[in-house]
Amino acid sequence: MKIVIFGGSFDPVHAEHVNMVRAAQEALSPDKVIVMPAFIPPHKQDRALASPQDRLNMAKLAFAGIKNCEVSAYELNAGGTSYTYLTLGYLHGKYPGAQLYFLVGADMLKDFYTWKQPETILSLAELAVCNREGDKIGYSAEQLRFFAKFRKKFIGIEYTGRDISSTKARVLAAFGEDLKPYLPFDVIDYIEANELYRIKGVKGALSYLKPSRRKHTLGVALTAAKYAAKYRLPERNAILAAALHDVAKNMPENAPELSGFAIAEKVPHPVLHQYTGAYVAEHTLGIDDEDVLNAVRYHTSGRPNMSDLEKLIFLSDMLEPSRDFKGIEKLRRAFAEDLNECMYISLKHELKHLKKAGGEIYPLTVKAYEYYKKLRKQTNG
Ligand code: FE
Ligand code: FE
Repeated sequence: MKIVIFGGSFDPVHAEHVNMVRAAQEALSPDKVIVMPAFIPPHKQDRALASPQDRLNMAKLAFAGIKNCEVSAYELNAGGTSYTYLTLGYLHGKYPGAQLYFLVGADMLKDFYTWKQPETILSLAELAVCNREGDKIGYSAEQLRFFAKFRKKFIGIEYTGRDISSTKARVLAAFGEDLKPYLPFDVIDYIEANELYRIKGVKGALSYLKPSRRKHTLGVALTAAKYAAKYRLPERNAILAAALHDVAKNMPENAPELSGFAIAEKVPHPVLHQYTGAYVAEHTLGIDDEDVLNAVRYHTSGRPNMSDLEKLIFLSDMLEPSRDFKGIEKLRRAFAEDLNECMYISLKHELKHLKKAGGEIYPLTVKAYEYYKKLRKQTNG
């Protein structure tokens, strides 16, 4: 008997999860596929997730039409951190003599080396890997690396999934965007009926934006959510701050939302909307999280000693996918590596650009630049 096991947080399950299972069935002709939602995935311990029950229900809906496929509540019932080697040990005992395959996406294969007890996993199951657009790996080079480490090969499945992720689906759901290209219809209905992934304040913020500004804002939110996991920041705050950051960008000075707004210092016009935006967020939209408000308040100028959320929004605003300027690739690489280093290069870039264009330079930006320059010197000795 051949059994394919497919684990994940499924938060939410998306169309490529289903396609991967279909591709694995095609390639491996298993007798059974077991889809296994994790209680707490080892790499995502501080992420806000939909409840285990909701994730299980969504997985059941998504895989209902796939033959010989069952969704197991084993890890959800076990609770705690869901380690693959333990789950495979359990299945090995339950189906003695069966050939087990553990199905993963290429993004997971990169992490596999850091999983708990990878050798145990490989003694219990063969690894079957599916590629993904945007995150594609070269199978032959990866096989060499894999073999060098484990003296085993993995099975490469000839299917390349589209570049969609559950993180992206959560952002789109929070923004009220169309989920049809990404999720099974029944899952979309479930998300809507149960109001999953909604974030208070996001829709209110978006109602102020023109379509082009909304598109940029969505890019900022997708970027911020992607890096929130890496820098261990609450994803909901990242999405909320992104949704809010340009809320007052096109607001006239005499808008009722700005009555009572005052600022003592002289602020260059392109910077002013960070302060008016934070004001609207607080006074009209009722946002009271100081870190979120500060992420809006300093997203254009930066400032010394920013919180990680402030840096995340500043950098996501500058580097979201629709941005394009000379040197952006270097900045994007730095974003994936180190927030402080990226702040330093970004502020340096911004000041240089402002000087060249003859734009007014806001003293706080200079202070921020000097702060991150000094910090860099200290860290690099
Ligand atoms: Fe802005
Ligand atoms: Fe912006």
